[in-house]
Amino acid sequence: MSCNPSIGGIAKGQIVREIDALGGMSAIITDASTLQFRMLNRSKGPAMWSPRAQCDRNSYSQNWRWILENTPGLYLWQDTVSNFTFSERGEIISLETSLGGRFTAGHYILTAGTFLNGRIFVGDRTAEGGRVAEPSSHLISSQLRDQGIQTSRMKTGTPPRVDVRSVNLSRLILQSGDESPEKFSYLPYLSSAQRHDIRQMNCYIAHTSPKVHEILRSGFDKSPLFSGKITGIGPRYCPSIEDKLRTFSDKDSHQIFLEPEGRNSTEYYLQGFSSSLPFEIQLEALSHVEGFEDVHLLRPAYAIEYDYFDPIQLDHTLRSKVIPNLYLAGQVNGTTGYEEAAAQGIVAGINAVLRNRGQEEFILTRDSSYIGVLIDDLVTKGVDEPYRMFTSRAEYRILLRQDNADERLTPLSHRIGLASDYRMHLLEIKRTSVIALVNACSQARPSVVDVNPVLDAHATSLLTTPKSITSLVTRPQISLSDVLQFVPRGTIDETIHASQLPLSIPDFLPSTPLPETFKSICPESPSIFSNIVTSTEIAIKYSGYIEREAELAKKLKKLEGLKVPEDFDYSRIESLSIESRMKLTRHRPRTIAEASRIPGVSPSDISVLLVYFGR
Ligand SMILES: Cc1cc2nc3c(=O)[nH]c(=O)nc-3n(C[C@H](O)[C@H](O)[C@H](O)COP(=O)(O)OP(=O)(O)OC[C@H]3O[C@@H](n4cnc5c(N)ncnc54)[C@H](O)[C@@H]3O)c2cc1C
Repeated sequence: MSCNPSIGGIAKGQIVREIDALGGMSAIITDASTLQFRMLNRSKGPAMWSPRAQCDRNSYSQNWRWILENTPGLYLWQDTVSNFTFSERGEIISLETSLGGRFTAGHYILTAGTFLNGRIFVGDRTAEGGRVAEPSSHLISSQLRDQGIQTSRMKTGTPPRVDVRSVNLSRLILQSGDESPEKFSYLPYLSSAQRHDIRQMNCYIAHTSPKVHEILRSGFDKSPLFSGKITGIGPRYCPSIEDKLRTFSDKDSHQIFLEPEGRNSTEYYLQGFSSSLPFEIQLEALSHVEGFEDVHLLRPAYAIEYDYFDPIQLDHTLRSKVIPNLYLAGQVNGTTGYEEAAAQGIVAGINAVLRNRGQEEFILTRDSSYIGVLIDDLVTKGVDEPYRMFTSRAEYRILLRQDNADERLTPLSHRIGLASDYRMHLLEIKRTSVIALVNACSQARPSVVDVNPVLDAHATSLLTTPKSITSLVTRPQISLSDVLQFVPRGTIDETIHASQLPLSIPDFLPSTPLPETFKSICPESPSIFSNIVTSTEIAIKYSGYIEREAELAKKLKKLEGLKVPEDFDYSRIESLSIESRMKLTRHRPRTIAEASRIPGVSPSDISVLLVYFGR
């Protein structure tokens, strides 16, 4: 974790659930390493709910390491890739490492992150590096450029780390975890945040002031961002503190969040204070934030500039259109964020294996997942700034919820042999139980005397005649768990109980007994009932919206199937606008639907294409 040890958040939390539904490990590792869990956007509709966990940086890393070391068939080699050898057809024949290793493979996946020609900036000091104290990687970009892959520069930054013992926490606003924390994985165990014997840790909120801003501004002439030393494009929505002062010059305060990095560490992360200003300015400004008067920094904020590869040169499996046996995934494709990187990693990994086996490619569509939206955006539109996921990027938000990633993706992954039988079995129980609970809710009509006190407590109008639980749950003030006591659920409990298998450790961990690092997740109390209640409630409350969106997705999917010949000459269609002809020639969409998502290709141009290709 180069930056904040936190996983999930708005739209990113959905991605982690999707990786879990596919059979990936991100969610399980996060659950085992969680210090604090929060479901963000609870006050909004369920399409917006997003899980977020603050993790223990060291446990997270150790847990991953343990999983990798115990994955059958996977062998590690720790070294720097320094050279590729290419065939005359432009395929990679082998790669060489700095310490003399030579590897050959059918397909290669490059995930070099921010390390390619990475350069770190703190004020007017610069150093080579892929992240602090780790060397950057030099030869790869130029070799790939020589083969015809386009590269450019981007930048990102990270805030300072502080010793929490030097902060007066009583002057900050407390931000605690959820009282009833959930978790990321669909597998039935308790996460570290859910276990009563493991305390959730707190985060804190502080505020900058006009005085802090004045000090920060005094260092602007030494900021590499403003002096032109950094030329790469940075993330607009995750700006440095100096960017924020420039963009929102009328604001005299910004929030900063103090977040733990580990259960046994005094190191805290300062979200919102990312900077490339000189160290002295960072320290001076921070010491004028209330509560930080005696602050001790463990590490300054820094900015980093690195090479990325234009993702428009990839197909939907993340395979290069230029070097046919190379897949690219993660930050090298112009994205930012662990979740975005992990999503690409699993898709590239799946496809490299399928291609090695001569099997059909695995492509996720925009109505199946945020992962599908992410990859489609990257390969059809390209990027002109670091790409991070937002819910607004998805056109089918009601379908792509954090509670139903298993319904959307596990069957697809099970079909290719990745999601296990156990996961599929859990999904079947969930599906059957949700249908049974929806029916039970429509039939249950509790007496007015019983139900009115509950309605009264939630400030919603009282009943004079009995109504079904379904009609009560459609009220915004009432959740299913408020009235679950009135639903006879004996048969549902029996279904779950009868069909629930004990959590099989080998299903998600390669061997038993559990290693020390995984002791924080507890497989003894498997329960999937809360998932069933959430999904039932959403099915009742939002059925109209869900059906409408599914119908729309179906209609647009028809366009998805309408293929455009790869070498089609757009200049032949004179009724297309010149801009569209240029964009279509550059992006080479594979279908009409892809063409419709290219910025600058208007709906009328799409109609022209539909007519041309014989609607
Ligand atoms: C300073 C900084 C701040 C960031 N802030 C945030 C943030 O707040 N939130 C967020 O979500 N994301 C943030 N990110 C981005 C986040 O770290 C990345 O999006 C994510 O880690 C990308 O994952 P990745 O797997 O693509 O690459 P990385 O996590 O960067 O991993 C790349 C790996 O490749 C290895 N490598 C590189 N070159 C070679 C080579 N030639 N041979 C062998 N190995 C090589 C490196 O050693 C490294 O282990 C930040 C990144 C940095 C550097």
